[in-house]
This record gives sequence, structure tokens and C-alpha cells, in this order.
Amino acid sequence: MYELSVAQELYINSRARAYELEARELETVRVGVGELAGVDAELLRAAWKFVTAESADDGSHLEIVKIAAHQVCPQCGAQPEKHNFPSYCERCKCHMRVESGDRVELLEIRFQHELAIA
Ligand SMILES: [Zn+2]
Repeated sequence: MYELSVAQELYINSRARAYELEARELETVRVGVGELAGVDAELLRAAWKFVTAESADDGSHLEIVKIAAHQVCPQCGAQPEKHNFPSYCERCKCHMRVESGDRVELLEIRFQHELAIA
């Protein structure tokens, strides 16, 4: 399951940040999940529960913000309006480039009793 490795990576990064800041347990971790990231939000939430289970961060929340994908043609600059994500530009048949919404990003980590920005 891809979501499990994503959750593990998010948890490792969150923990590293907590250690740097000498912070306590995680309260909420907010992540942006791109429309084209290939990550299912429900599975990611379940994976987060699994990864944090029986750790000090058991019960921490994973807040998921969906990020819309955006494409542009590197050749003519065309930006498809319809959200069907074509592989090739309708005008010049050039391979489309994905500008945003193709990854999972750590947006913010809230620790218990304090706030910090990732
Ligand atoms: Zn084009």
C-alpha cells in the first residue's frame, strides 16, 4: 500500500521537526494531498493511525487538504480548462507538464500545547 510509506515518511519528518523544536507529542499534522498524487485520503488517514499506534503520538490527527492539480503545456503555454488531465497538448501535441497537485506536502505541524510551522 503506497499510503503506508507516505504516512511513514510524514511521521518521520514530523518527529524530526518535533525533536528539533524540543516539542512534545504531535497534536495535528496538516498535509496537502495533490489531486494527481495517487494517494487516497481515507487510506492515508488509516495508515497514519497505524504508523502512530502505540507511540507517544497515538491519537494525533492527520488533517488532509486536497490540492487541485494544474497543468501547462511547456511549448505553447496552453492550460486545459477541463479537469481531464490530458497527457498531450491539444494544440501542439507536446507532453503536458504538471505544475502542482502531484505530490504530498507537509503543511503544518501542531504540537500539544504549542504551535509550529513546518
Ligand atoms: Zn501546446
